[in-house]
Amino acid sequence: MNRPMLMLGNEAIALALIENGCRVAASYPGTPASEILSAVAKLRNDRGIPMHAEWSVNEKVAFEIAYTASVAGLRAAAGMKQVGLNVASDPLMSAVYSGVKGGFLVISADDPGPHSSQTEQDSRLMAMVAKLPVLDPDSPAHARDLVALGYELSEKFEIPVMLRPTTRVCHACQDILPGDSVPPAGEADFRKSPSRWAATPVFRNLLHKELTTKLAEIAGWAPTAPIRWNPDASGTRAVVASGVAAAHAREVLEGLGLWGSVPFYQVLQPFPLHADFVSHVLGSYGEILVLEETAAVIEMQLLDRGRVRGKATGAVPEAGELLPEEIERIVSEFAGIGAGKPAERGAPPPGRRPTLCAGCPHRASFYAIRRAAPNGIYPSDIGCYTLGLNLGAVDTVLCMGAAVGQAAGFYQAYRLGGKTVDIVATIGDSTFFHAGIPGLIDAAVQKAKFVLVILDNAMAAMTGAQPTPATGCGAMGEPTGIVDMEALVRACGAGFCKVGTPSRFDEFVALLKEALAYSRENGPAVVIAREPCVMSLGGKARADAPKAVVTDACAGCRHCVDRYECPAIVFDEDGKRACIDGFHCAGCGVCLHVCPLGAIRAGGGEGGAP
Ligand code: SF4
Ligand code: SF4
Repeated sequence: MNRPMLMLGNEAIALALIENGCRVAASYPGTPASEILSAVAKLRNDRGIPMHAEWSVNEKVAFEIAYTASVAGLRAAAGMKQVGLNVASDPLMSAVYSGVKGGFLVISADDPGPHSSQTEQDSRLMAMVAKLPVLDPDSPAHARDLVALGYELSEKFEIPVMLRPTTRVCHACQDILPGDSVPPAGEADFRKSPSRWAATPVFRNLLHKELTTKLAEIAGWAPTAPIRWNPDASGTRAVVASGVAAAHAREVLEGLGLWGSVPFYQVLQPFPLHADFVSHVLGSYGEILVLEETAAVIEMQLLDRGRVRGKATGAVPEAGELLPEEIERIVSEFAGIGAGKPAERGAPPPGRRPTLCAGCPHRASFYAIRRAAPNGIYPSDIGCYTLGLNLGAVDTVLCMGAAVGQAAGFYQAYRLGGKTVDIVATIGDSTFFHAGIPGLIDAAVQKAKFVLVILDNAMAAMTGAQPTPATGCGAMGEPTGIVDMEALVRACGAGFCKVGTPSRFDEFVALLKEALAYSRENGPAVVIAREPCVMSLGGKARADAPKAVVTDACAGCRHCVDRYECPAIVFDEDGKRACIDGFHCAGCGVCLHVCPLGAIRAGGGEGGAP
């Protein structure tokens, strides 16, 4: 007998995909969406379900693979975070015109806050631009329900459907009663129809008209109509909310004693907003408050600025998460029962800023880059290595793969002024495969002079150790093909490509200097900094490594703490000299190269700490 299990929202979404017969799931890791595909792969293996789950090289590829499975008649899903949806936007815009056969879900996880993203963009706006329906869950259990509803909607109208959980849905935990897996329904059966699947502009025009008709029908489809939670409430002011804001608003209205006097509606499908609902609320209430994260998607479709309160009127903050205390303030003010002071967000608790792990090979790479090119410009990229900021070795972070293009941009800009500057760009191995390759090809063609360091720790570490195309292991643990990174770099046109080990510090600095010398004369030089992520070692591989110790030569200058920032190097209680926390020290030995006085030495085995 099945028992309730405490699940993350992402696990609940994965469970729903399996329960609803999803046959192909593809994703690129990105917080807060990463655990969806991991959980799909685990469930698939545990239950022995014939389905394909993969970590794709980027979101565009993930979308194209899953969408094509749906064109062939299978249920499918593509998962990503909101900025990943930008990468997938090209096939998204076209796929909505062509439509689907098997149900197809685009799961785009948004990050109001933002907790771990470059932007707070709202995927619902992308759904409006692309013209596909979007469903907005308020909790893990709700997300699970909306997966089922989304597949029904997708197949009924032959249209891709977006599911848009936010961080608080993805990473909240809730008891979920697992159900049975749906037996695989049918085999792939692609029905050729070039006017639909390979439409020329004339047919695209027809498809666009069909899409507009579909959207009008979807805006009247009962199963995704807004829910009126308190039908007995009567009043002239109503609250309309969606997503996590709706869950908070329900509690706030009850807590403030407004449940019986303020009609409350939850929107499940922010786009297209149900036409009858729009007529109903505008015809029934004098004032309407709209609560939604992050953009004014619902508010924009309630076309009456005079009576609709929300982001456009300043009643609701335009940016940031709508936390319960913020919603309480907004609702109190709207209902005329509170002073409406802005909710105060307390100062963040004191603590050490985020930093790379003790023994992280990236720290050694960044320190070596500073030593080899002390006056350089350092473009970098998206990943845990962005924390190289703390070491002064990251000057720019824009978007996936931009380190390469920005390095070329800096080179060209300085070249125009007749100046040369050392440029050392950094990018992770997964990010290089995702979006760095085209930039490197361009740089090789243009002979842009810089060094690209590919920080190759053999995984996408920041999002949970997902494999890269060079790993040889897939999402379900199955062996996969392997891409030879060095051969790929050379095929992109880079004339210099050498592999180094960052913790062999002096050798690695020498390699960087060699690469810089090459690049100043010739064009892009690539150094692959290859050393496994310390998390992958599980604390075992280096158990016998000699730990570092600090000798009496320490003058307490703090250089090792402030400029190298290994969490295993701390100061003694008096704050007078450095010491090594032997429990956290991973024994990488790089700090032996850091102290200007040579006060850090190799100790014995474990317990080498003072
Ligand atoms: S160990 Fe060296 S770098 Fe660290 S505080 Fe002491 S003297 Fe300074
Ligand atoms: S050897 Fe030094 S740099 Fe490496 S983990 Fe230990 S304290 Fe940190």
